[in-house]
Amino acid sequence: MKETESRTPHVKFYSGQEIPLELHKVRIVQKLHLRPIERRKQAMEEAGFNTFLLETKDVFLDMLTDSGTNAMSDQQLGSMMVADDAYAGSASFTRMQEAVRDVFGMHHVLPVHQGRAAENIISKIFVKPGDVVPMNYHFTTTKAHIDINGGQILEIYTDEALKIKSDCPFKGNLDLVKFAAVIEKYGAAKIPYVRMEASTNLIGGQPFSMRNLREVNAMAAKHGIMVLLDVSLVGENAWFIKQREPGYETTSIRDILHEMCGLSDLIYFSSRKVSCTRGGGIATNRIDLFNKMKDLVPLYEGFLTYGGMSVREIEAMAVGLRETTDEAMVGQSPAFIKYLVNDLDSAGLPVVTPAGGLGAHIDAGGFLPHVPQAEYPAGALAAAFYIISGARGMERGTISSVRDEHGNDILADVELLRLALPRRVFTLSQIMYVADRMKWLYDNRDLVGGLKFTEEPAVLRFFLGRLAPVSDWPEKLMAKFRKDFGESL
Ligand SMILES: *Cc1c(COP(=O)(O)O)cnc(C)c1O
Repeated sequence: MKETESRTPHVKFYSGQEIPLELHKVRIVQKLHLRPIERRKQAMEEAGFNTFLLETKDVFLDMLTDSGTNAMSDQQLGSMMVADDAYAGSASFTRMQEAVRDVFGMHHVLPVHQGRAAENIISKIFVKPGDVVPMNYHFTTTKAHIDINGGQILEIYTDEALKIKSDCPFKGNLDLVKFAAVIEKYGAAKIPYVRMEASTNLIGGQPFSMRNLREVNAMAAKHGIMVLLDVSLVGENAWFIKQREPGYETTSIRDILHEMCGLSDLIYFSSRKVSCTRGGGIATNRIDLFNKMKDLVPLYEGFLTYGGMSVREIEAMAVGLRETTDEAMVGQSPAFIKYLVNDLDSAGLPVVTPAGGLGAHIDAGGFLPHVPQAEYPAGALAAAFYIISGARGMERGTISSVRDEHGNDILADVELLRLALPRRVFTLSQIMYVADRMKWLYDNRDLVGGLKFTEEPAVLRFFLGRLAPVSDWPEKLMAKFRKDFGESL
């Protein structure tokens, strides 16, 4: 057993409580600022009630995303010092390629500058106008790249996937009956690949099971359809398989990763997530697929041995990929998320269950039933929560949706506030603070009102759009906070 492949970090507490334990120590710190609520309210106004437009100097706990915000290990930082600067043939790339081979069992490796760059190359090569791409769930940039190449995504998730309260261990599974129907309807020739996303990002970091992947692979193989695996969040998915799938209790994370990749023709990843760095990559064991794609890398990214990345990032990526086989590493975020989700759930708050691998997802529809969907409950909850806590989450509801041809909002399936937990960044007391403030907000939820757009960009409005409260609810919320908490921050 290699040193990085530590066994299950399962520590029992004498009290019987289930408490996640940090199996790392903090050796570099960044000072945080918790501004008084008056300043937080003002900052929210300056940001047009859009948490994307806040500046981090006003943010206490940044739970917007895990993308590019994970903590690196000392080994990763150290590796950056020995990077090999070379346009071609860099030893840094060779080390990264070795890591991909070792961790994923995939031999041919193409470097790209981030996950969506892999999606650009894969969609350009494999997706033709009129094609359909079935998948367990889409990611925003994935869908955009398939659309732009004339294809269409088909989400064929199971009925459990979008339920708020569920005890289904694998909400990220692909529905095989729907997959068979898609093949029947469109024909295999119109399906360049079926895409499986590990720990489905947009529906709460929910995993699929190995059994499901095996069945998807079998059905795809029968029809000559390629299996594409998005491994951006694969460490957590592998951890959930180990935790939840019968037969995998004693399998190492590395063996689980190898089995997952062995059931796929092609994999790609965003290193902003999976290896706690920046960058990305594509890998396969099929030389025919590699040869089809490789010419696009120098065109869009950079030479085949750096792909638009700095060699320092490539070194840290190699180390970060290897750390993905460490259970203490990949289990850390899910353990903290579980703590937060179970705490909120047992206090009666509407939160998506079971806990996934990316963050806690609060059901804003259930939290603020008095705020109509046309007044963006998830956006309102994100703004209110920032004002009363200094923690910023991300709206994943109707603001993140679009308008139809008549200018009416297409209402989202679910209104969620996502509180992401970047890997190894937060301590337990910070998570307890988040839970505490969220419970206070729930008890005072009647004070939170809706939002309306004041500036609305035509595309991807959630990034840069500006909104305003429909009433003076932020003042009332602030007054109640002061009444309950006195001079406290
Ligand atoms: C973030 C992400 C991407 C896109 O990666 P970027 O590095 O942000 O371009 C693709 N797929 C999944 C599942 C992701 O989480």
